[in-house]
Amino acid sequence: MADDCLFCKIISGDIPSNKVYEDDDVYAFHDINPAAPTHILIIPKKHLNDITVAKEEDAELIGKLVLRANKIADKADLTENGFRYVINTGLDGGQTVFHIHLHLLGGKSMSWPPG
Ligand code: AMP
Ligand code: ZN
Repeated sequence: MADDCLFCKIISGDIPSNKVYEDDDVYAFHDINPAAPTHILIIPKKHLNDITVAKEEDAELIGKLVLRANKIADKADLTENGFRYVINTGLDGGQTVFHIHLHLLGGKSMSWPPG
């Protein structure tokens, strides 16, 4: 838990969220400003600023994050038509919240590449 981290405060319940899923290691909630009909953020409960600081010891956690996201995508009925995962990282990546989060975006056809 990092004291000044928005997503740590969401995990602890100090800031409310629209929760989708929770277990011992992973928390998922609806993005407050959705960029697609389905926009869910999947985060590790462990505070890590961004994906670049993940270490070998975090390999299982990062794997779990993606596997849980697959289940969340399936439950949101996105598996058949497809969806997009995004991990914005750093300044050029457009990261605004410095606690690793996997964006799950779906429910519409998306263009590529991003702007
Ligand atoms: P990023 O730009 O990749 O760091 O994404 C941060 C995301 O967090 C954005 O899509 C925001 O809309 C979302 N966000 C910010 N504050 C909240 C909040 N209180 N509850 C849910 N989502 C949030
Ligand atoms: Zn945090």
